[in-house]
Amino acid sequence: MRLPRDTDLGNLAGVLLPLADAQAHVLDRVAPLPPVRTPTMAALGCVLAEDVTSTEDVPPFANTAMDGYAVWAADTAGAAAATPVVLPVVAEVAAGHPATAALAPQQAMRIFTGAPMPAGADAVVMVEHTERLDGGERVALHAAVRPGEAVRSAGDDLRAGDHVFGPGETITPGHLGVLSGLGVADVVVHPRPRVGVLSTGDELVEPGRPVAPGQIRDSNRAALLALVATNGWQAVDLGLVRDDEAAIEAAVVDGAERCDAILTSGGVSMGDIDLVKVVLDRIGDLRWMQIAIRPAKPFAFGTVGERATPVFGLPGNPVSSLVSFELLARPALRGMAGHSQLHRPEVAATAAEPFPRQPDGKVHYVRVVAERDPDGALRVRSAGGQGSHHLTAMARAHGLATIPDGGGVAAGDPVRLLLLAEV
Ligand code: AMP
Ligand code: MG
Repeated sequence: MRLPRDTDLGNLAGVLLPLADAQAHVLDRVAPLPPVRTPTMAALGCVLAEDVTSTEDVPPFANTAMDGYAVWAADTAGAAAATPVVLPVVAEVAAGHPATAALAPQQAMRIFTGAPMPAGADAVVMVEHTERLDGGERVALHAAVRPGEAVRSAGDDLRAGDHVFGPGETITPGHLGVLSGLGVADVVVHPRPRVGVLSTGDELVEPGRPVAPGQIRDSNRAALLALVATNGWQAVDLGLVRDDEAAIEAAVVDGAERCDAILTSGGVSMGDIDLVKVVLDRIGDLRWMQIAIRPAKPFAFGTVGERATPVFGLPGNPVSSLVSFELLARPALRGMAGHSQLHRPEVAATAAEPFPRQPDGKVHYVRVVAERDPDGALRVRSAGGQGSHHLTAMARAHGLATIPDGGGVAAGDPVRLLLLAEV
């Protein structure tokens, strides 16, 4: 087998590509998945691809915002703590139980939050400003109210015909509440990408199997499948394949048919048995990159099959594969899911300790834990070992501190922080 030279694979050996160029290459080759109609309750986290217009008023009828007494506001004129207005209580109305008769002037109705306003009544005196008299036969009102007080009018939130949501909006729990409140049973959204995850390497052992000398357990597949799932996408386990060109090709071709995108790990660095890039070069339009970052320098990307399924060839080192996912695969998959905000939020933080480094032409992404000062400012310190095999520190990290090429950062210096978790 002729192993391709680095130049064949789309990158000059030793020439490091800026991360932004690598991201642009990938993002240029993916597109939002075509929209589909889906049940509203299955659309949480999906990106809307249509306008939603209200067909109803919300709320559908005027109702009380408070527990209290429904009245004609004019009847309460002059009521005060020491000089109550006393009215007969003619009925009680609760949510789901509308009044059967209108309220006449000089009368009150006991009313509970959410109950429809009785015809005639135009305000509610909150219960805190009232006093039950004669076992509830009459009420003393200790405050005057203006028309409309404590009343939520029909259509106060949305009117029939209002534009509610539009394309590009991510469906949050709040959106689901609004859509359910409007009786919208289905919506047109970009579907969740089906993302296949494949591990490669002769040294890897399936979970639950004994580990022979020289073998290690597969950690990347579990982590990448979980990342796909936590992003709201459909994770497809494509298994574990040996360092065998035909086996890798078969798995990638199969995955390209079943999935919208594939994540592989391993087999993309400079070594002789880095077969993922060899396969992608033969069956796809490989671009192999050496990116000016640490960790996650090697990265291969290609599109495969009739549907030009994107294949993200992530490096094998566990930290590198996850960092590569965050910086290169996740933004592209978010684009496929229809999002316009593709990248993790980047925020300002302060180094709580020095982050020394040597110049090497790369931006270092240091795994850090963050904590907030009493004034809310973020301070970061190392999450632990910074080798590309130190997965524990990655697991603990709240984010990646960006340490630019050069001599490092001193304690107290500002640093940029790519947030991976809530702090
Ligand atoms: P590679 O990129 O295939 O040369 O792998 C680089 C390093 O990552 C080697 O130490 C591999 O054993 C390790 N590695 C590759 N794939 C995995 C995996 N799925 N889980 C854990 N470690 C891996
Ligand atoms: Mg390998």
